Amino acid sequence: MPINPPLWKATVSATKEEARNIAAAFELGTAPQAVIVGEEPFEDKAEVTALYPAMPDSDFLSRLAGRAVHVMLLPDVDWIRLSQQGLPPVRAGRFFVYGKHDAGKVPDGVIAMRIEAGMAFGTGHHETTALCLGILSDLAKTRRFRQVLDLGCGTGLLAIGAAKLWKRNAFAVDIDPDAIAVTRENAILNGVGSLVESFVADGPTHPRLREAGRFDLVIANILAGPLTRLSPAISAAVKPGGLLVLSGLLEWQEIAVSGFYRSRGFYPLKIRREHHWSAMILERPRCKR
Ligand code: SAH
Repeated sequence: MPINPPLWKATVSATKEEARNIAAAFELGTAPQAVIVGEEPFEDKAEVTALYPAMPDSDFLSRLAGRAVHVMLLPDVDWIRLSQQGLPPVRAGRFFVYGKHDAGKVPDGVIAMRIEAGMAFGTGHHETTALCLGILSDLAKTRRFRQVLDLGCGTGLLAIGAAKLWKRNAFAVDIDPDAIAVTRENAILNGVGSLVESFVADGPTHPRLREAGRFDLVIANILAGPLTRLSPAISAAVKPGGLLVLSGLLEWQEIAVSGFYRSRGFYPLKIRREHHWSAMILERPRCKR
């Protein structure tokens, strides 16, 4: 067996703005191991490269990108390590998210989180992750939460951030076992291994979550599709008076997605946006209106 299993590479050329949107759509819609955008310095041209452990469906990628995507098999190289080596740290609210290569650069006065992505999504570089971290940081100025759920935890950085802010239990679940392995490692690495409980779950109906009771904060940075499909279960997981942060949405999906939750009594408190991506804070009223 090769040290690094073979990887598939999907590439597509576009304008810089389009390339950023295509990269985001690949990241959230197709579970790649890495997505890189290479921009031409003096022209409005860019190339998106996404890496996959198995051959991706080029028709699906082309539909996501709105243009033809070229797929090829790559030779045996440690692309994940190469792509992570250069990732700069991210500042979002009070958080400073960094990889091993920037361990010596943590500034004073921040909540530092060392996140190794491994096979999971969530290094803080994606707009939706940064939006969620900013929201957590802001919420901590005025509110305390006793029990938090990070649904679709990826690297676990939102649950780890919540555990650091409120020093209370945070559940971190994902349908992807690789994400759970990465989350556990990251929680220990960041000194909150005993506060972050992480396991594989599809949505918030896992028996362990039901046993934990309802949450006063649920964060779900998954796509619009699962957010609407899971809206009855996600709504039921939030305590009356609790908050729900939804992200992984594009601006044009806000009304449709929030509609599913409004019909269950939630009302929007705030929307934050960056580069067409949104994160919404919704509140579940204390008593039925
Ligand atoms: N919370 C991280 C990762 C977001 S990526 C961040 O903010 O950066 C979205 C994650 O949701 C992926 O890891 C994906 O595996 C997971 N996911 C998608 N559908 C899910 C479902 N039905 N139940 C649990 N997790 C899900």
